[in-house]
Amino acid sequence: MKLPVLGIAADVLLPGEVRRFGRDRLVGWSGVEVGARVAAVRVQTSAEVPGLLRGRWAGVGEVVAADTDGVTLRGVGRGRVELVAAEGPPWEATLAAVGEPAEPVAVAEAAHRLMAAVALEAGRQGRLPGDDLSAALAACVRALTPAEKLGDRLTQGPAAMLATTADELFAAEAAAEARCALTEALEKLQRRPETGRDERRRLWGLVVDISRRLDVYDPDVTDGDDELGVGALRRKLQQAGLPGAVRAFAKREIEALKEGRSASNDHNARLGRLELIARLPWHPSPEPPLDLVALEAALAREHTGLDKPKQRILEHFAVRALGGSARGTVLCLHGPPGTGKTSIARAIAAALGRPFVRVPLGGVHDECEIRGHRTSFQAAAPGRILQGMSEAGTASPVMLLDELDKVGSERARSPAAALLEVLDPEQNGCFRDNYLGLPYDLSHVLFIGTANDLSPIHPALRDRLEVIDLDGYSLADKRDIARRHLLARAAKDCGLVEPPALDDATLEHLVERYTREPGVRQLERSLRGVFRARALARVRGGGADGPVTVAELARALGPPPYRVRTPPSALPPGVATGIAVGPEGGSLLFIEVARVEALKGELRLTGRVGEVMRESAHAALTRLRCEAARFGVDPEVLREGFHVHVPEGAIAKDGPSAGVALFCAMLSAARGVPVPADVAFSGEIDLRGQVLPVGGVRAKALAAERAGLRRLVLPRDNLADLPEGLAIDVVGVDHLDEVVDWLPREA
Ligand code: ADP
Repeated sequence: MKLPVLGIAADVLLPGEVRRFGRDRLVGWSGVEVGARVAAVRVQTSAEVPGLLRGRWAGVGEVVAADTDGVTLRGVGRGRVELVAAEGPPWEATLAAVGEPAEPVAVAEAAHRLMAAVALEAGRQGRLPGDDLSAALAACVRALTPAEKLGDRLTQGPAAMLATTADELFAAEAAAEARCALTEALEKLQRRPETGRDERRRLWGLVVDISRRLDVYDPDVTDGDDELGVGALRRKLQQAGLPGAVRAFAKREIEALKEGRSASNDHNARLGRLELIARLPWHPSPEPPLDLVALEAALAREHTGLDKPKQRILEHFAVRALGGSARGTVLCLHGPPGTGKTSIARAIAAALGRPFVRVPLGGVHDECEIRGHRTSFQAAAPGRILQGMSEAGTASPVMLLDELDKVGSERARSPAAALLEVLDPEQNGCFRDNYLGLPYDLSHVLFIGTANDLSPIHPALRDRLEVIDLDGYSLADKRDIARRHLLARAAKDCGLVEPPALDDATLEHLVERYTREPGVRQLERSLRGVFRARALARVRGGGADGPVTVAELARALGPPPYRVRTPPSALPPGVATGIAVGPEGGSLLFIEVARVEALKGELRLTGRVGEVMRESAHAALTRLRCEAARFGVDPEVLREGFHVHVPEGAIAKDGPSAGVALFCAMLSAARGVPVPADVAFSGEIDLRGQVLPVGGVRAKALAAERAGLRRLVLPRDNLADLPEGLAIDVVGVDHLDEVVDWLPREA
């Protein structure tokens, strides 16, 4: 076997495992292709390559992934280096196949048989030892062997290696994980369906032998037990490191199972619950001290822009690290879809070195879906929180409670109350799931929530949240995000080594004519669509390698679904443009006002108008009446009434920001002079005509930009909240008089 050498500093690759090696650990690396095989040899210094490698053991690794930062290898075998070519890099090594030395020691023999069985199994299934079984063994060896000995251990050959490892295993106190790995491997072997009866007996002997040495031997478990499924369960429970009370409970339940005292559905419920107990993590991993620098770097690396949210996240964790009140609050990332909420949470988990689990809450209407069903219920199951925990592998993961706003609250037993208990540090130390029926400690979990919209969230729950707004991206942001992240990712997903060139104009055409969203999800999907077409062309043996053109976009994605962003043409008198913010980000909102003589000075409001909006309309009218002469409005006109109509939009939620737009629409109706169509207004007013600041300004500005407006009128106090690089003119005002000065007086 001839393979290029890849030196790995102070580490080895074992068959069955998949591991990533950073570039700084690699020696003789000259770029490798995915799918290629390499001989991974442990080295101390780079000077050893290529001259000093002869006679060493090498792991045969298949390249799973490779980029400029390093490679990911899957161990698929091993061999001994016989010869290394003098020219390189890459230096080519000739590997000799490895014979398995026999060891007289009983454990070694057992281990040897185990390894042989692994090889047999692998051969039978036509796969290389990269399956679960050898991965479990590799995990076991790695878990037990100190890093500095790992290389030497490898040179012993598999059987001796396992024997030594097994010896250490018996001595090790805290090797529960490795014990698990080994016994699981044995169990898998023993349960192989094609294993004959004799073979099964022999393997059972092996299981007993090794489990006795591992101190997990249970004389009560017989071969027959395993047919009931009790033996394996019992072993799993023993190895799960259960806290005392839970262990006692599990023991009682196992006894009841073995006696077969209960009816069959009770039996199944018991089995299910014990399986859950065995699967749940009961202990938190030790929490490393918070590394703010690493967190900051991770956030910066994976997300472009979002300076303010990133800052807020860092502040939150700094406060936490100092033991401040942040322990009681839960970060909640709030914004429209595709703005990076999930991926930020994932990046936080990775930077903190904790596993990440996502618990979707969309469509959860009943408390039982959070808290589980009692086992007496036919289709009983644990709640989503414990289901999430059983995936986590440790009791201290980062758990993303996705879409907190989609939790229903129309029933009496609302999930919100259960969620409150989950998030409350006073109570979550002994969370009770109905299915589990035992207290479970959630206090080590780091919860992060997401929501598209804050208003449906139960107020008590809302109170717990530290909300961080992600409002969406401007055209310039989207271009940057595409350049720095999406293009390369989409190309890789489509099997292209390099993303095809795409100039700014074409990219902007794609953003503006094919997507209309605050986030970048549709943009990512469209890019993939274009690259898929390239992939097809390439496989067919043709296809251009030049830059992507607008015509190519149309071929791959069809004609653009959105029109060019021209500002709306003129508006009739009495209509002004406001902006509403809803779960999908901001959108334009047209406020219509008509003069109606029959109303006799009254105000009529129709459409989706909430209480706040009603008050705003009255304030606007009063303002108009007080200053009619100064605003150039004929007092006769004001003796007629006004009908205000708001056709659609999330007004009930956004009433407070429509005061200025309402006033402009009324003034325009009263004067008979249209409001310019390319301007939107946002701001609240009081009776003295002062313009007061409003919320959601970023989302509003981005919506106005997306809609192709030229100008946005905002309260001056809000100017500081604006995103940078907006392609829209923003005017700040303090008083309605400034707005009036600014509107045309004549048609
Ligand atoms: P959400 O959870 O808000 O709906 P996601 O986290 O699923 O959004 O993001 C959708 C996609 O957009 C992901 O692939 C994510 O990595 C990418 N993305 C969003 N914002 C950014 C950003 N600022 N920088 C880089 N990628 C981003």
